[in-house]
Amino acid sequence: MPHKLVDKKLTIQVPSQFFYEWLEDNYVHLLRKALDYSIGREGTLEYSIIVDSGNTTQNQPPIGYQVPNTRKVENAPNTAADEKAFKSPFEVKELPSGHGDSFLNPHYTFDNYIEGDCNRLARAAGFAVAQKPSVTSFNPLMIYGGVGLGKTHLVQAIGNYIKGKLQDKFVLYVSSEKFTNQFINAIRDNSLQDFMNFYMRVDVLILDDVQFLSGKEKTQETFFHIFNHLHQSGKQIVMTSDRPPRQLKGVEDRLLSRFKWGLTADLQTPDYETRIAIIQKKLINEGIHIDYEIIEYLAHSIDSNVRELEGVIVSLIAQASLTRREINMALAKQTLNHLVNESEKETSVDTIIEAVTAFFDVRVADIKGKGRTRSIVVPRQIAMYIAKELTDLSLKSIGYHFGGRDHSTVIHAIQTVSDMIHADQEMAENIKKIIKSFEH
Ligand code: ADP
Ligand code: MG
Repeated sequence: MPHKLVDKKLTIQVPSQFFYEWLEDNYVHLLRKALDYSIGREGTLEYSIIVDSGNTTQNQPPIGYQVPNTRKVENAPNTAADEKAFKSPFEVKELPSGHGDSFLNPHYTFDNYIEGDCNRLARAAGFAVAQKPSVTSFNPLMIYGGVGLGKTHLVQAIGNYIKGKLQDKFVLYVSSEKFTNQFINAIRDNSLQDFMNFYMRVDVLILDDVQFLSGKEKTQETFFHIFNHLHQSGKQIVMTSDRPPRQLKGVEDRLLSRFKWGLTADLQTPDYETRIAIIQKKLINEGIHIDYEIIEYLAHSIDSNVRELEGVIVSLIAQASLTRREINMALAKQTLNHLVNESEKETSVDTIIEAVTAFFDVRVADIKGKGRTRSIVVPRQIAMYIAKELTDLSLKSIGYHFGGRDHSTVIHAIQTVSDMIHADQEMAENIKKIIKSFEH
């Protein structure tokens, strides 16, 4: 709204910085015309931004602006001649004409990104952005999720897709760590302007692992400016984080609030079916066939993240080719146990079953078998109970390791053992002892 008119300088009040930038971006010509018409050619425009700090409203010092813009944002330099003037923070030598490297791994595509309940929204949003960068309201698109759940793969797939379709777009993938280092180097080398100029030319900026910016105020501030510039110029921004934005400690509020403009989508740990599909895809890519039984075993044994799952497959393939053995169940179990023991962080269902059978003096085959006598049923239920306590496997996966029982059987076992622990002192002690034996 008009605020004051002094010496042919019109001040208008806007509710936020964003508003100001948006007006500049979209209505600069219209505003100029209006000024020409009402004040004349020498008329200038100034913005006064209302800063909302709690209940008090105060005016920020106005931002002076000559409407025939001296700093028009959508005109990021793009000619070959201009390009020569910029130094890419990625390279020591000057940029050749054309766009710089995108730093994308071509193997990360949508085609080999398996869809499942765990990633449906994120994948769909990512695909929408890939098809129409900066046209959707998913700008910025923020993908978050734990380690190894496919964040980097997904955002690189977006980048690869755009590059494949729109060759003239400058797509850039950068980890937040690299961004930070480039920024530090730019300060050191007195080339901050080059750094900024470089990033402001990007059409699609993919910034991976923004949690890394936590507590790095200056880097954040710089990113904030780049972000605003790109967003205002209608450029697409894609980010990832290992936690939801609101849990990003040490990231400035004004930056966080920017993240909310677009869409935030999470990646969950993959469910069983998705794990099966991921293993199968991986094997097809490697040109290797293994029995479905083994695939099931792997999918039921590792359900924390996709990277681990891939790790097991890779080492399984390596084992098989090194020892010239075929990939059978024994080798799969051996490889898996080896990996699990090595990391010493997970207790497998098989080791739990072994401990329980040793304690109660029954056979593993009985635990996994169909026998329903009490001397077998009780240890079997206890082993299920301990598996639930000590692993983070789903009920379905636990059931699988007990001769393919379904999850309701496992629930029943857990309830029965819980009751037993309350009613039977001696049994409670025994179970405690077995659990203790797994503490490292
Ligand atoms: P993050 O960045 O979340 O830590 P990555 O994107 O690096 O995880 O994924 C780890 C590995 O798992 C990569 O090799 C990736 O290709 C693979 N991966 C993750 N999710 C999927 C999926 N849905 N389909 C196929 N492969 C996947
Ligand atoms: Mg990653």
